[in-house]
Amino acid sequence: MLDSRVTTIKGVGEALEEKLNQLHIYTVRDLIYTFPSRYDHHQILPLSELIHEQKATIQGTIVADSLVSFFGKKKSRLTFPLQVGDVIVKVIMFNRHFLKTQLQAGKTVTVTGKWDQYRQQLTAEHHFLGEKGPDEPIEPVYLLKQVVPSKRFKKLIKQALEQVEGQLDEFLPDTYMTKYKLISLAYALKQMHFPESFKHLKQAKRRLVYDELLLFQLKLQAIKKFNRERTTGVKKQPDFELVQQFIHALPFTLTDAQMKAMKQIQADLTSPYRMHRLLQGDVGSGKTIVAAIGIYLTHTAGSQSALMVPTEILAEQHYQGFCQLFKDTLHIELLTGSVKGKKRREILAGLASGEVDVVIGTHALIQAEVDFDSLGFVVIDEQHRFGVNQRKVLREKGMDPDVLFMTATPIPRTLAITSFGDMDVSIIDEMPVGRKPVETFWVKDTMLDRILAFIEKEVNKGHQAYIVTPLIEGSDKMDIQNAVDLYQQLAVYYDSRVLIGLLHGRMTNDEKDAVMKEFTEGKRDVLVSTTVIEVGVNVPNATVMVIYDAERFGLSQLHQLRGRVGRSDTQSYCILIADPKGDVGKERMRVMTETTNGFELAEYDLKLRGPGDFFGKKQSGLPEFRLADLVEDYRTLETARRDATDIIYGDLLDNDLDYAPLKQHVETILKQYQQGFD
Ligand code: ADP
Ligand code: MG
Repeated sequence: MLDSRVTTIKGVGEALEEKLNQLHIYTVRDLIYTFPSRYDHHQILPLSELIHEQKATIQGTIVADSLVSFFGKKKSRLTFPLQVGDVIVKVIMFNRHFLKTQLQAGKTVTVTGKWDQYRQQLTAEHHFLGEKGPDEPIEPVYLLKQVVPSKRFKKLIKQALEQVEGQLDEFLPDTYMTKYKLISLAYALKQMHFPESFKHLKQAKRRLVYDELLLFQLKLQAIKKFNRERTTGVKKQPDFELVQQFIHALPFTLTDAQMKAMKQIQADLTSPYRMHRLLQGDVGSGKTIVAAIGIYLTHTAGSQSALMVPTEILAEQHYQGFCQLFKDTLHIELLTGSVKGKKRREILAGLASGEVDVVIGTHALIQAEVDFDSLGFVVIDEQHRFGVNQRKVLREKGMDPDVLFMTATPIPRTLAITSFGDMDVSIIDEMPVGRKPVETFWVKDTMLDRILAFIEKEVNKGHQAYIVTPLIEGSDKMDIQNAVDLYQQLAVYYDSRVLIGLLHGRMTNDEKDAVMKEFTEGKRDVLVSTTVIEVGVNVPNATVMVIYDAERFGLSQLHQLRGRVGRSDTQSYCILIADPKGDVGKERMRVMTETTNGFELAEYDLKLRGPGDFFGKKQSGLPEFRLADLVEDYRTLETARRDATDIIYGDLLDNDLDYAPLKQHVETILKQYQQGFD
């Protein structure tokens, strides 16, 4: 019944159904779970509790007959003095002159409207005669986009609730109902739509938020467990001695955090489970080497590895780095969209025969034509740049390699346990020794001369600089123009004292590579660029990052950009040119100058922008919750996660009848997952 069409509700025909569909309401359940977006408060309060400029409801006795004055065309203003307690306030109503006969001296009336503390007056929108007051002290307000009138909608909900009464079976086990003192599902739903009091409403919300988060966590945990059990993946047998030698030969010592992450990866690789792990670490924390060790482990165990990155520039750079790192021990190839013809065929053949040990590339790697001899390990760098789909493609290709996702965007804990709850997580929360935090300044563009002089000074010391201009979706042409213009202006300004390069997304790959190569080799001092360089680019000699119109970027993105400098033991600088209008914008710039901790910035960004915006909606793969708020309901989220783990890994699901509804729920989820609806 709950899942039947809305037309099963009395009074809903095809025409109304169509309208409800516009609100994404298809079933009775959808209707009942369409909650008010807010509640207006009509509770009668004493004057002392009213707040200036806010909506309020007061009750009193009219002291003198209403006065009406007309102004403009057909506009009117009705006023009367109202005695509330010992005070007489003025009530004003616009365009209600016809009420003059009703609102007479001696009558008791309840009025709702905006309260003006200083003038002691209320501009009323509603009034109710008599002492009874408003019918709905708490008025639910639905977001109906004018598709259905609100009165009609409320009637529908009432009807629906009546019709399914008795079918809203409790699905939470008693244990949790008692432990958290939750109200029943049926009662909670009723209170959401027809709240008796704010206290009831709060209880209802608490109950339903828990439901939502528990079901979500159950899904993640169930899938995680399922994946673990399904894939008795290949248990690799690496040559640990060789790997130790390799680590000892590195030009630096691994940080403790890197060591720990490496051990976790090693444990996954050598276990019968299939790795599904996220490696999280701030920019410059040294994730690549950890992945490289994993790749070497895999190689000594006789399997191939693939490293997938979001841009060609990054692929090229990793390729160079890996070639240097592994010299002659590994056969490494670069495979991107621009590798064509004979070379491409050779690489593909090498992968299929097993002659190639490691392939590095963009998403071209997971295209249909690519076959491996024995792909054992896949590393996906900057994973948030990849859609959920690309991960799925790998799986659908029937390949079950161990997979390591890496991200330099520090993911707030809140998001990490939700969107990546089905992964294991390793965190590198420690920087290699000797790194100096990047000094960050926020200036207005009136300081440009000084900035340019500063860049020149750094260049004269043998260092390099980036200048980034924003690129905005939809109008990128204009912004590339910005980079181009700036490039030309600077070329004139610096004459030939400073050599400038230009990099943007409209250049061909060959052009981009050429510029990057020149910059990496120090043949260009300054690189004027759009955010193409945001991800992963590593030129340790660069010490200055100037970001134009910094207020247009998210904090995490600014942090990424800033991470392009400070990659050696030389002091580096980040200069944010910004003139933000609002307080939030100013606050964001201030925060950037005050912390270089990516996790702190990420938490802050999440609070400011909300989870949807955090990665960009499409990429986030985050569910849209009806009630839960990942920031506000963080504690409930953690509780729900703990409970879900207990439920999934415990034996009550199978042995306790009280858990039967949840068991059924989990079974449905897994069935859908296997059919590819995840
Ligand atoms: P990210 O985590 O941002 O991908 P990288 O892996 O690119 O960082 O590492 C940044 C730089 O730090 C590289 O030049 C790398 O060689 C160097 N590096 C990595 N680990 C260490 C370490 N333990 N000590 C010193 N330098 C290191
Ligand atoms: Mg990196």
